[in-house]
Amino acid sequence: MPVATPKQFAAMLDAAQEGGYAYPAINCSSLTTVNAALKAFADSKSDGIIQFSTGAGQFVSGLNHKNAALGTIVLAEATHRLAEQYDVIVALNTDHCQPTAAESFLKPLIEATAARRAKGENNLFQNHMLDASNLPLEENMAISQEYLKICAENEIILEVEAGVVGGEEDGAAGTEDTPEEKLYTTPEDMLAVYEALHSIGRFTFAATFGNVHGHYKPGSVKLRPKILQQGQASVMEKYGKDAEFDLVFHGGSGSLLEEIRETLGYGVIKMNVDTDTQYAFTRPIADHMLVNYEGVLKVDGEVGNKKAYDPRAYLKKGEEAMAARVAEACNDLLSTGKTLFGSI
Ligand SMILES: [Zn+2]
Repeated sequence: MPVATPKQFAAMLDAAQEGGYAYPAINCSSLTTVNAALKAFADSKSDGIIQFSTGAGQFVSGLNHKNAALGTIVLAEATHRLAEQYDVIVALNTDHCQPTAAESFLKPLIEATAARRAKGENNLFQNHMLDASNLPLEENMAISQEYLKICAENEIILEVEAGVVGGEEDGAAGTEDTPEEKLYTTPEDMLAVYEALHSIGRFTFAATFGNVHGHYKPGSVKLRPKILQQGQASVMEKYGKDAEFDLVFHGGSGSLLEEIRETLGYGVIKMNVDTDTQYAFTRPIADHMLVNYEGVLKVDGEVGNKKAYDPRAYLKKGEEAMAARVAEACNDLLSTGKTLFGSI
């Protein structure tokens, strides 16, 4: 199955909204991590989302170039080819892109999709995120409108954010000193987002409810999922049931299962997973190095063990462990077994 068409991706979001589940959106930064996500979705019979950050794009383009757009296009094209092997549907997204990077990152990616469409091919990306949440809401919505229009012309869904996700992720999002009230999107903000965007095209919305990127000790993050419920209620009260947002949960690493499940009832259809899968990937590699110390190193004039220091020896272990963590995310988000492959 190739990557989702725009219609299939829209159907995926509708099915999740209707069915009270969400898709894991897995940050990938290499072919190995893309393969881990694809394997997990297929083994779980779950559709899903693979996404790339600007940092992943820079990494993939090579140390001498750090060209975020080029590296991201390479990852996306490779994922299109690799995904054809599986019987589930995956959609491709780009993660946080701040307004200052939109011109050099989002524009070339959207152009890459437009070029494929002109040849009658599927979109390169089904979804992009524009994160203008560092701007005042009015300016945030002005630039979001501009990009939503270009995305809509190419049947791409745009993810926007209002309020600030705490913590740090590839230099995006808030900082340690983000004032606490900024971490929670208000019902008024949610109404303003709906009013600014709904007539232009389809979008998803990362409303914030205390989420923090990264991983923190229990108790230091105060999630208030009811914020989402209140925001949805105020929008639907004014504009009807169809105005319900497709919400995105950022910074979910380390959240309690009950908090994750609660958000599914409030319209969350996508949850980003990065920190937890990064750790899952690295954990068995650390183990490999420590257990095979004398194989991966040339100690005291010895020659080491090629089987132990061949990068595939440990990257495969990372891939396997990351796939297991992605499968856990499918279970947490109730997407396991719900693939729409073959039915849309
Ligand atoms: Zn995020």
